[in-house]
Amino acid sequence: MATSCRKRTYKEENRNFLPEWEEDFEIIDKDGNPICLICQKRLANYKASNLKRHYEKVMTSLHRGIHCTLN
Ligand SMILES: [Zn+2]
Repeated sequence: MATSCRKRTYKEENRNFLPEWEEDFEIIDKDGNPICLICQKRLANYKASNLKRHYEKVMTSLHRGIHCTLN
């Protein structure tokens, strides 16, 4: 049995900034670089998978931080 089930991926051929990333990942375009609105960090490139991974990582640590300061 062949396993043709592949993970859903973003179109990584497109290395331009997509406006939807601002909503999806809190990423903006600044001087041709993707900037994270949450931690103000400049990200390496416009790969959606990279931005998504960064966003998820930041959100996880953010949530931990919020829980810590609330208690
Ligand atoms: Zn960030």
